[in-house]
Amino acid sequence: MKLTFLGTGTSTGIPEIGCDCEVCTSTDPRDKRLRVSLFVETGNKKILIDCGPDFRQQMLSNPVDRIDAVLITHEHYDHVGGIDDLRPFCKFDALDLYAEKYVSDAIRLRIPYVFRENKYPGVPNIFLHEIDIHPFEIDGLQIIPIRLMHGKLPIFGYRIGKMAYLTDLKTIPEEEFSKLKDLDVLIINALHFKEHISHETVKDALENIKRIKPRKAFLIHMGHRFGLHAVMEGRMPENVFIACDGLKIDL
Ligand SMILES: [Zn+2]
Ligand SMILES: [Zn+2]
Repeated sequence: MKLTFLGTGTSTGIPEIGCDCEVCTSTDPRDKRLRVSLFVETGNKKILIDCGPDFRQQMLSNPVDRIDAVLITHEHYDHVGGIDDLRPFCKFDALDLYAEKYVSDAIRLRIPYVFRENKYPGVPNIFLHEIDIHPFEIDGLQIIPIRLMHGKLPIFGYRIGKMAYLTDLKTIPEEEFSKLKDLDVLIINALHFKEHISHETVKDALENIKRIKPRKAFLIHMGHRFGLHAVMEGRMPENVFIACDGLKIDL
């Protein structure tokens, strides 16, 4: 399996518009973070997790020849704002997009022209699959949804093989931990150090990593108050890494 971190920043991205803090003005390319998204290549499948407003830019810097399916974690704009830009990937056939019911409804409301019966020529050809908490298959590849709580909002993380992608969570319901055993790679959100109502702090993320015990963990969805990449990477436990945009890993 090959993973490409297309974006690793919180909903505003880094730099934040108008901010002159040391992270937003840093010249280290690792401190520039587009909105979170992951590209997964496994067997002969190419899967995108979330399609935020930076999707076009992410595809220009990390070109891919095709996308077989898109998994959506939740309805927030930083995770779905780029769906219209999937057009080049559905020229010949409908692109399969997977989301739970309330998220599918939100997508249909947000870009209604994509789902009309008589479509305007050139709109993306997307087939929305409504999923629930049960594992499902994409052409033989098993995907395990994991329920996470984003403050009060129930959202999905996904496990594919020995990799799990958990973004935007504040808490993991007790019963979901059993789905996170024996992971080679855990990708998990860590906004910054101060308490937040709907996202994990770095401390929360490190506690969850300690409990889940993956071989390696990568932090994502950082805000500018997380700190400089170069400084923070030296403060992480041995098996915890700070992801950055464009990072590729093989497992
Ligand atoms: Zn988010
Ligand atoms: Zn969110």
